Amino acid sequence: MVADPPKPDPKAASEPDPSRRCLRANALVLLTVAAVVAGVALGLGVSVSPERRAAFAFPGELLLRLLKMIILPLVVCSLVGGAASLDPTALGRLGAWALLFFLASTLLASALGVALALLLRPGADSVDASVGAAGDVPQASKEVLDSFLDLVRNIFPSNLVTAAFRSYSTLSDRSNQTQMNGTQVQLPQGKEVEGMNILGLVVFAIVFGVALRRLGPEGELLIRFFNTFNDATMVLVSWIMWYAPVGIMFLVAGKIVEMENVGQLFTNLGKYILCCLLGHAIHGLLVLPLIYFVFTRKNPYRFLWGILAPLATAFGTSSSSATLPLMMKCVEEKNGVSRHISRFILPIGATVNMDGAALFQCVAAVFIAQLNRESLNMVKVITILITATASSVGAAGIPAGGVLTLAIILEAINLPVKEISLILAVDWLVDRFCTVINVEGDALGAGILQNYVDGTKSQSSEPELLQVKTEVPLNLYAVPTEEGNPLLKQPRSPSEDAATFEKESVM
Ligand code: ASP
Repeated sequence: MVADPPKPDPKAASEPDPSRRCLRANALVLLTVAAVVAGVALGLGVSVSPERRAAFAFPGELLLRLLKMIILPLVVCSLVGGAASLDPTALGRLGAWALLFFLASTLLASALGVALALLLRPGADSVDASVGAAGDVPQASKEVLDSFLDLVRNIFPSNLVTAAFRSYSTLSDRSNQTQMNGTQVQLPQGKEVEGMNILGLVVFAIVFGVALRRLGPEGELLIRFFNTFNDATMVLVSWIMWYAPVGIMFLVAGKIVEMENVGQLFTNLGKYILCCLLGHAIHGLLVLPLIYFVFTRKNPYRFLWGILAPLATAFGTSSSSATLPLMMKCVEEKNGVSRHISRFILPIGATVNMDGAALFQCVAAVFIAQLNRESLNMVKVITILITATASSVGAAGIPAGGVLTLAIILEAINLPVKEISLILAVDWLVDRFCTVINVEGDALGAGILQNYVDGTKSQSSEPELLQVKTEVPLNLYAVPTEEGNPLLKQPRSPSEDAATFEKESVM
């Protein structure tokens, strides 16, 4: 008897060929990395007159605008949905692990920065201080106490709408002076300044998500709204990703074209740059992967390969916030991190976890101390470590976010804040590597948490992920989109659905 030829699977015919999908995914990674290299070559190879520079960098500016446009809906919706989908106990445990990892890795980065700067002594030989434009540094100064109070104030925004584009900042400047004991004293004055208060939005979204879950069935409609909003935003991200290589190339080229004399900067501040880049390389290629390996026993470099495109985007944009959408997509699609984990942890990480920033701030603080022939005793070193960790939390995930909070460290150890102008002069370069390390730490943290959740799932009779409520089953049979967005529900069999309902009704 001749066996019937196998019937073609109608589902398989409608799905894109896996090898083509794989090629497409890797083509994007290669294109993004090639864009960085092409950007450097283009920037070094062309000369653009100052009045044409904005037009030259326009494709890059467009990418930044697109990514910034996505940040607000993405952060708010993913955190509301993420917090609402987690059982409060699981939420607390995951949050605590994440914060512990963020804190420990940032402290390690700070220690590495201080150690390298003390070892290599980048500021020991005198440096031509004229390199930096002193005028770039704002004349207004900020007390350490005010900085910490502002951090707490920003956690509790007084107005959610203004938090979407403004944050609170207290500055002392000449416009608000008073006479005390015959001397002029500048009084601190607080006001709303330009820049999204992402910390406040993150905290509000988490608490709001928890509150929605407390409402039970009544809150489900709103949870479904936020989840759907998030899914739609991720589809937009998948479209933006295809434009990213072009944007990144022009962002990098535009920045190089702007630099009047790149060689001069390296001659004057070469040791400082070297120290930062070496620290970033050690932390990014050895320390963070080692932590990942210790916790997961998995190959960290395979994980890093999966997030190569967002790492290149971080390099191109110098912004953790702008990299967030791509990072979320890649850790979920390439590294198997579940949406519950990535959507909850990555926005928090992009806001508070900045290993790269802490590292370069420590190098910068020791460098400035050496320039000013200030010796650093143990107390000062510990002060640098603690304030760098805290100020990296306060740094915004935007270009040069870390330089602005560097003032906190310098104030804390009584070093002249005006020296930040030196750091600013080379920050366009150091910040790129710093941002890569910042986002790498967030992604590896998400990977470690995923592993922890998987571990508790297989060990416990009541797995942790069972406590994690899946999305409200709205769109059970939705067909994956052209972009192959795994965040949208894949078609499932009725038996799988029945199992899910059972699972959810247990919770
Ligand atoms: N640009 C960095 C980031 O977005 C922040 C910094 O300047 O350190 O992560």
